[in-house]
Amino acid sequence: MKITDIKAVYPKWTKLPESKWQSRFWQIVVRVEADTGDVGYGYGGGGEAGCLVINRHMRELLLGTEINSVNAIQHVWDRLYHLSLPYGRKGLAVMALSGVDLALWDLLARAQGLPVHRLIGGRSKDAARAYATGANVEKYRDMGFSANKFPPAFINGSPDYVGTEANARRARTALGDKATIMTDCYMGWDVQTTTRMAQLLSEFNLYWFEDLVTPDHLLEQAALKPVIAPIKIAGGEHEVTRFGFKSVLDSGALDIWQPDLTWCGGITEGLRILDLALSNNIPVVPHRGGEPWGLHFIVSTGCEDLAETMPERWDIGSDVLWVNEPHVIDGYIRPTDEPGFGVRLNEAMI
Ligand SMILES: [Mg+2]
Repeated sequence: MKITDIKAVYPKWTKLPESKWQSRFWQIVVRVEADTGDVGYGYGGGGEAGCLVINRHMRELLLGTEINSVNAIQHVWDRLYHLSLPYGRKGLAVMALSGVDLALWDLLARAQGLPVHRLIGGRSKDAARAYATGANVEKYRDMGFSANKFPPAFINGSPDYVGTEANARRARTALGDKATIMTDCYMGWDVQTTTRMAQLLSEFNLYWFEDLVTPDHLLEQAALKPVIAPIKIAGGEHEVTRFGFKSVLDSGALDIWQPDLTWCGGITEGLRILDLALSNNIPVVPHRGGEPWGLHFIVSTGCEDLAETMPERWDIGSDVLWVNEPHVIDGYIRPTDEPGFGVRLNEAMI
């Protein structure tokens, strides 16, 4: 089938989630249409600027392109990456490209009547174990979660050791000894803080510390690894493409990689990043892995069996962009077998 149209739109968000997480990350919707009448939808990043990259540059490169196989999508990816490289390579151009890539996977899968996880290679597991990101640990326990990523505490922007220890104790107490718990300071700690937190939280048996410092501080994270062990360093939501992750690999900065499928280059580049990780024995736990794009990827590849979810996002009650998104049942989340990513765009949002 030939691509006849492609359009990126920044959704009309009206209500911000508690954490302002959606608005801050500038997600965009990409719609691609083929001469067969098939349509595919993708989710990318870069906000209004990402839409311009797609609508004013990538669109003209894509019109008329044949998409009949996963290989064809890979060729499109390579072409768009190279032709946007002078201004792209990282940041919003690759976030935009991610949306295009996911739309093409959705298009191809829908045209074949298959779920995307079948196109990737088929399920290796029926469902993924979910973890809840957030502080409402008693609620997550009651929902059936056995894993949680709680927020560390801050006072006026400075790390709060007492508050963070209290949060760790609350998570461990609510979820029990067997639960997997971790924390994410969103680049809010430094080397000294991280070292002290590791000592302070040692009794709570945390799996990982996430996003400790900025993605450009690779050597600092590499040096911290032995200092905070057995706690692992996770990160990579702000890193993109296999080239970016090659630098992470060479520096030895991260124990666990967390590419975001809607930012790192989509499923196509996500698979290349995963190859690099697994051939170096590095576990991969995609950022926001419980959203459809990450979920199809997790259940059909060698990713670790752990999918990030944000239960508060399901409580908002408005601004539902994707209809039919899977929710957690008894601590697990499974993608549907509907064609494509199995979700429908709420047209009222665009
Ligand atoms: Mg994070």
